[in-house]
Amino acid sequence: MKLKLYSNNTRFAPSPTGYMHLGHVFSALFSYEVAKKLGGKFILRIEDIDSQRSSKIFEESIYEDLEWLQIKYSKDVRHQSRNMNDYQGAIQELQKLDMVYPCFCSRSKIKAEIMRAGNAPHEEENSIYPGTCRRLSKEERIEKIANENSFAWRLNIRAASKKLGNLVWNDLRLGKYTVPVGTMGDVVLARKDVPTSYHLSATLDDHIQRIGLVTRGEDLVNATHIHKIIQVLLQLKSPIYLHHPLILDSNGIRLSKRTRAQTVKSLKASGLKKEDVIGLFGKENMLSLLNFIK
Ligand code: GLU
Repeated sequence: MKLKLYSNNTRFAPSPTGYMHLGHVFSALFSYEVAKKLGGKFILRIEDIDSQRSSKIFEESIYEDLEWLQIKYSKDVRHQSRNMNDYQGAIQELQKLDMVYPCFCSRSKIKAEIMRAGNAPHEEENSIYPGTCRRLSKEERIEKIANENSFAWRLNIRAASKKLGNLVWNDLRLGKYTVPVGTMGDVVLARKDVPTSYHLSATLDDHIQRIGLVTRGEDLVNATHIHKIIQVLLQLKSPIYLHHPLILDSNGIRLSKRTRAQTVKSLKASGLKKEDVIGLFGKENMLSLLNFIK
């Protein structure tokens, strides 16, 4: 059966919170190859809602590395930090639908959670919120909203599941998933001072930017469950997904900014050429994934 997409656009959406490493190279090059195969736009999106961790230096290095990799992207680069009104509108819509509730759990706990929510929750960062504030009465909420300096808006997964029933989605490589609502916690979608989180902004942007096929690492499969719920609640267009395998280091550990994986910058500085860098994960490995797109 021929793959049917509502749009042939695809995207690479890095967060400028560190230098690109080999995992990013794989992801960017793979998305770029997919874009060429589909003949749609290849879109670069800068996911910079976390103002404390994002920096212009890292953003510039993303442009430099993509140029060095000879990856050409569409001129309309979207910066999430410049589009907060869009996310604000979406969270208000979810408030009207009664699908989010304010959470006032201790400041330090919220802070830690917000830090996580601002970034794509790669597997080990997932945490399940016990739902304490879901049980507050309407009066308690109104009173706390008026008095607390900081609070978060959490998705009410149970209410969403009641409304939506079983949600099913398909990954081109990994197959069919049913959103496991029963084992998911109420994730943070926004907070008082920053009206968004990774989940809300990435989902809305994929809709606004007409992304027909989302390619990203398989550590984000759990995030896709949440994105599916948001899409249905907000009646957004639904892309098709292809989660690719992760590049592991020699100890079998996923490369990440926190494990200080070798950066493209340092690989370049050590004299490696583009082909040498691609050779570290094998171009054929990456290209073979294109066979999942028929
Ligand atoms: N900004 C996210 C990251 O760097 C991208 C997540 C996605 O592709 O949806 O991990």
